[in-house]
Amino acid sequence: MNNDNNQALVATINGRPKIARRKTRSVRVRDLIIGSAGPISVQSMCATKTQDLEATNRQIQLLQEHGADIIRIAIDSRRDVEALAEIRKQTDARLVVDLQESYKLARAVAPYVQKIRYNPGHLFHHEKDTPVREKVKFIVDTAREYDLALRIGVNFGSIDPAQAGVQDDPIEAALMSAQEHVGYLEDLGFTNYVVSLKSSDPNDVLEINARFAEAFPEIPLHLGVTEAGMLPMGEVKTRVAFENLLARGIGDTLRVSLTLPHSEKHQEVLLAKKIVEDVNAGRFRSVPRFEHDGLNIISCPSCSRVENEAFVDLAQKVRQMTQEFAAKKLTIAVMGCRVNGPGETDDADLGLWCAPSHVNLKKGSALLGQFSYDEIVPILREEMAKLVAERGL
Ligand code: SF4
Repeated sequence: MNNDNNQALVATINGRPKIARRKTRSVRVRDLIIGSAGPISVQSMCATKTQDLEATNRQIQLLQEHGADIIRIAIDSRRDVEALAEIRKQTDARLVVDLQESYKLARAVAPYVQKIRYNPGHLFHHEKDTPVREKVKFIVDTAREYDLALRIGVNFGSIDPAQAGVQDDPIEAALMSAQEHVGYLEDLGFTNYVVSLKSSDPNDVLEINARFAEAFPEIPLHLGVTEAGMLPMGEVKTRVAFENLLARGIGDTLRVSLTLPHSEKHQEVLLAKKIVEDVNAGRFRSVPRFEHDGLNIISCPSCSRVENEAFVDLAQKVRQMTQEFAAKKLTIAVMGCRVNGPGETDDADLGLWCAPSHVNLKKGSALLGQFSYDEIVPILREEMAKLVAERGL
């Protein structure tokens, strides 16, 4: 920690000096600098199946054409790596892979990407006898060898169980997890990394990033509100976190996560750029805190891990059906797969997470049942009506 570095500086965005950015160190992603010496960069992620080369190449092109500086791809298997090798031949985009449980895939993907994101909460699933520190060292050694950047991506829906077990407060647990991994990387003398601390609650995103920036002023931050959901509420939630943080000079790169059809995925990039532009021009559309008394729908932006392509359609049907409950204070989560679905639905009043041929319906952390894609919406409606009656909403 170095408080001398904790000073705002005036950055240049599109040639116009505006947002007073905190001074953070430079992280190189090929020719792009993430940190206060570079512009605030915008990221997005392919929602297509990685192995569907045509669709994924098209998606990368769409995102790139609309100004994405870095494009993320999910990699879960050797076959995904083979697909990535082919994708690399078709694009010069800066690519980042999202590693979940298979940390060893880092070495296989390294020749094809500029950055790797790992989630501390997912390093426990494989090789349980190998200490996490060793797994991190493997990823860091790979990043060094191939001159890659890393992102420590902490997510409230999948907090490292070792931290979640000892901390009652999810913000505290997420901060401890980030701090632990920052310690691993710094001990290894590796500094070409950024940190992200994401939640579906914009107030939590605001608080945790502000606290992290205070504790580690020199480390560049990647901002994101996970599962912000569909427009227009997805924009409202994202703006609450981003506008408040950017205005304080916090945030060096960002991604807007919206539930959108593949052909509309570039809206994430356009909105991210618009928010940066608005803050830069002193235009604020949000409020200091997200105070929303009515229905709150959390839905993931989908990615190649989505278990059934019907997910986006399902999320839209849920939004339509739930309009009659708009004034009721309920949280409904709609998630695309088993990676984040089970965890992210735990805190919702009712949660849906998609499997290949059925949808899991949960009430809090309890599984109510598994239903087909065709039958789930009216069943969800019944459960919402029951909750409204039980709670006298
Ligand atoms: S929940 Fe699954 S499908 Fe949705 S964005 Fe997360 S990993 Fe992708």
